Amino acid sequence: MAEVTRSRKLAAEFLGTAALVVCGPGTAAATFMIAKSSGVAFSMAQLGIISFAFMMVIIAMIYTIGHISGCHINPAVTLALTVARKASWSDAPGYLAAQFAGGIAGAFAIWAILGKPGMDAGQGVLSYAPGNAGHAFAAELIGTFLLVLVVFGSATDSRATPGWYGLAIPSIVFSVITVVGPVTGAALNPARYLGPMIATAALGGGEGLLWGQVPTYFIATFLAGLLAAAAYAFLGGVGQTSTSRPRRDEYQSNGRSERDHGSGRPGRDDPKPGRQLGSSSAAPTKANTVDARTVRAWIVAAAKLVVDNAHLLTHLDAVIGDADHGVNMRRGFQAAVMMLEQTDPSTPGEVLDITGQAFMANLGGAAGPLYGSGFRQAGKTLGNEVDVSPARFGAALSSALDAIQELGAAVEGDKTMVDALGPAIRAYRAVINSGGDLAGAARAAAEAAARGQRATAGMQARKGRASYIGARSIGHEDPGAASTAFILHALAATVGASGGPTSGGGFMAARRRP
Ligand code: ADP
Ligand code: MG
Repeated sequence: MAEVTRSRKLAAEFLGTAALVVCGPGTAAATFMIAKSSGVAFSMAQLGIISFAFMMVIIAMIYTIGHISGCHINPAVTLALTVARKASWSDAPGYLAAQFAGGIAGAFAIWAILGKPGMDAGQGVLSYAPGNAGHAFAAELIGTFLLVLVVFGSATDSRATPGWYGLAIPSIVFSVITVVGPVTGAALNPARYLGPMIATAALGGGEGLLWGQVPTYFIATFLAGLLAAAAYAFLGGVGQTSTSRPRRDEYQSNGRSERDHGSGRPGRDDPKPGRQLGSSSAAPTKANTVDARTVRAWIVAAAKLVVDNAHLLTHLDAVIGDADHGVNMRRGFQAAVMMLEQTDPSTPGEVLDITGQAFMANLGGAAGPLYGSGFRQAGKTLGNEVDVSPARFGAALSSALDAIQELGAAVEGDKTMVDALGPAIRAYRAVINSGGDLAGAARAAAEAAARGQRATAGMQARKGRASYIGARSIGHEDPGAASTAFILHALAATVGASGGPTSGGGFMAARRRP
């Protein structure tokens, strides 16, 4: 699987914003063209279709580039997510540049499609009635506020019903355009607004452009994004602090079916889609010891990450195995979270032991007994300790690796989970041995696991099902190494300072990858 580099993210934002402008403002220009030539009066029927075109292209783009760039395709969205630390500051300038450039390119594409009649029909350029700046400002402010609020609520909060942002966000765009459209044309997006203006000017149609209105559109939309970020923070959704307790339904299966992605083999005894598994675990703390709450928060976070990415694990397993690793891991983690809920263990060792039992009892295949014995051995190593030091926690991780190797007889280089776990434990210990803290060690482990996962692509499988296909396994990442990387990524996010890495913020924030 190709790595998501910054240049790929920027290319995705460029193309996504261009597509938005071609299909949204392009449909507006096309509608005016038809209305003009047929003498039809412009009514809500036409505005409804323009809104619909915006809605549809946003749905399409979310599912096309969401997993690459987050599909912001709107500078107001990027600024708001960045300020709320749901997207990284280092990405922001590039995202804004790519979006504005995409908006301009999209507007040139409208001209390439519709030609001069499209220019005469406005080319998707927006303006409001001169003298109506107050209402225009309110229209863009309120409209963009609602849009960005829905982005935050549906796409950036782990408590939201997974996956539905792809309908929620386009839907609010549809409804906002039908009310704001008659006043300002409904930009709701500085790049969508500016692109057609610049292309039109460059194509020689600049006489009637109302450049004086730019500040109204820009200030209203950017400000609205920031206000929406603040409003969602007030609702308790952004940057949850350690004092905020997760709701019982924080952990929720997304119910995605592996059948769509894998070999067509349905998962046996798969928990029902949408089933909610409660978690009374407290939010992670940033202490330098590990207690039962922290370990439990880790397991819940790992469960969420694995469930959200089950289709990815299954996809990896479909290529070199039998397309069930996502289903297996989802079943194991869902059972673990449920058992933790029922038993309410009081020590880290007990949490790990119960997690291991859940894996053993509920998960077939190779991964069940391997992960099961790993978790159980880690629990055994910690015994009845209540506050586990980072060094002891490292010892527990090491013993998990020993158990996995004892059972599966895999060594590094065999293209298994051991290729992620081995380097991760070395990195963890290196940080602790040089005086680093738990968060730093966990971060190093997560990074090493992700590197180990990627390195499996170059290996030939010598253990497990993938070994059956011999050299044809080369070139593909190992699914078990990927699930291990997710689990360690969850550990880093749980014990880390700011709740973990911010990459992948935006519409696809729920689909974090290591
Ligand atoms: P199955 O291979 O039975 O379908 P899964 O698909 O759930 O089980 O798990 C496959 C993963 O298990 C592999 O990607 C690999 O990382 C891991 N695995 C398989 N065999 C071994 C082994 N002997 N030692 C360590 N890990 C193994
Ligand atoms: Mg498999």
